[in-house]
Amino acid sequence: MTTDNTFMALALEQAQNAFDASEVPIGAVLVLNNQVIGTGYNRVIELNDATAHAEIQAIRAAGKATQNYRLNDATLYVTLEPCTMCLGAIMHSRLKRVVFGAQEPKAGVIESHHVWQESGFFNHTVQWQGGVMAQTCSALITQFFAQRRAAKKALKKAAASSEGSPAFRDNK
Ligand SMILES: [Zn+2]
Repeated sequence: MTTDNTFMALALEQAQNAFDASEVPIGAVLVLNNQVIGTGYNRVIELNDATAHAEIQAIRAAGKATQNYRLNDATLYVTLEPCTMCLGAIMHSRLKRVVFGAQEPKAGVIESHHVWQESGFFNHTVQWQGGVMAQTCSALITQFFAQRRAAKKALKKAAASSEGSPAFRDNK
């Protein structure tokens, strides 16, 4: 297993935490000198916070751990291609490298949309690598949404059958 795969596997464990909490399963770890200095997973629902993406959680944890808001030589491993907000956080914390798993064709701004490469307003560049354990990363997300759809369907079905039941009609 390559180093990138080893740390992506840890990011996947974080994503599983999100999955277990019924959040869209995205996880991240920040690594400095081969050591994990911060971890995070998507917690937007739990925290009522649209900024609580996995990357942001990991960056916050790493800043606390290192007592530094600059994380210059750190590498971020995240299971899904980062969004524009997280790209901002990556740039502001001066990360050296970003490694992501699955591509995010809609909202991803590193490979899917070349936001930072083309914008010209970032005063920092970051090395990046996509597609690391991409299948495992995207499978978890696909499984999450499939389960959610199934649960919704079951709920609808239950509601429809109770509407049709005589007991319900009698109560009207
Ligand atoms: Zn994000």
